[in-house]
Amino acid sequence: MATIKAIEGRSVHQIQSGQVIVDLNSVVKELVENSLDAGATSIEVRFKNQGLDSIEVSDNGKGISPEDFETIALKHYTSKLSSYEDLTSLETFGFRGEALSSLCALSKFQIITARAEDGAVGKRLDFEISGKFKGASVVAAQRGTTVVVESLFQNLPVRRKELEKNIKREYGKVTSLLNSYACISVGVRYAVSNQMPKGKKVVVFSTKSNTTTKENIVNVFGAKTLLALVKLDLKLEMEPSKGPATQSARNWSTQDIDRSKEVLIQGHISKPVFGEGRQAPDRQMFFVNSRPCALPQVAKAFNEVYKSFNVSQSPFIFANLIMDTNAYDVNVSPDKRSIMLHDQTALLDSLKASLTEMFEQTDHTVPQSAL
Ligand code: ADP
Ligand code: MG
Repeated sequence: MATIKAIEGRSVHQIQSGQVIVDLNSVVKELVENSLDAGATSIEVRFKNQGLDSIEVSDNGKGISPEDFETIALKHYTSKLSSYEDLTSLETFGFRGEALSSLCALSKFQIITARAEDGAVGKRLDFEISGKFKGASVVAAQRGTTVVVESLFQNLPVRRKELEKNIKREYGKVTSLLNSYACISVGVRYAVSNQMPKGKKVVVFSTKSNTTTKENIVNVFGAKTLLALVKLDLKLEMEPSKGPATQSARNWSTQDIDRSKEVLIQGHISKPVFGEGRQAPDRQMFFVNSRPCALPQVAKAFNEVYKSFNVSQSPFIFANLIMDTNAYDVNVSPDKRSIMLHDQTALLDSLKASLTEMFEQTDHTVPQSAL
């Protein structure tokens, strides 16, 4: 008798979904990115019981058309990418069409949506675990989309237990991730809140619809943070034939670079004399073309150079790497947070030299009003 059998479809779906949505962080990341992709200028994230009971993400984006209700939560259905070739010129965050389908498999999932032309009449959409559309009912709703995720991992008991056990840490991670989105998104207002089972709703942070990342940082971290920062504006030469030649200068514009061989690093960093005074990973944010990512090697390089000027403290870092979309691969992990940089060694060498040069020229005085 044959012993190799195909796994039943429903189990396959759950296994795969658990790889896309691995934790609280991935839920929030996928939903916020969907809102940004929908052109939202206002995004509200509401947690109940730090996300254990529910996570709701509301936006004022374009909404969902009735023609898409049937397919929206089906696996690999996406409005953003239709072929592998498109991957290389990716402008949107999403492209796999897996997030909503995975959330259907892993939670009590609902969407409320309305388009501009729908007036204040929206639809509440319900789905089966497979992502199949069950039906829509009429509800009052403003233009935009709200996605509700309740009882995350309800049908993966081990994963649910882990989440409950580690919720404080998971919730901490998710608020830092939201800090990153709120700081990088110019022209988008964020409001994040949490409500504990018997408590009041507490605002975690909120930003205005600012025009600069600097103003976002003030909204999220407070005006005092900014006094201790210097502007980061490095242009790194990446052409291998020339070696890791570096130049640092000010006020580069994204039009000034030849993306095939140059990388811009823009943002803000603590002055070496005025660091955070403690290891503060929640105050170190990295982006590639404005996409929040985990860049452990780049972080290490920044911290090393900083330490050579200030041994006892660690910096606030907000660094956006602007580079050619062919110079990295976002397709490494389903959560797209890990990025593979093709020329990482050259980039790191160049970054270290350039940052050292910059710190050597930095005015090291501490602003009086910050003392
Ligand atoms: P992807 O983002 O990779 O396309 P998702 O499963 O996250 O896959 O979303 C599927 C589709 O649902 C998207 O392509 C988009 O058309 C639609 N969608 C998801 N979230 C929103 C939203 N907040 N507003 C409008 N449309 C949305
Ligand atoms: Mg998506």
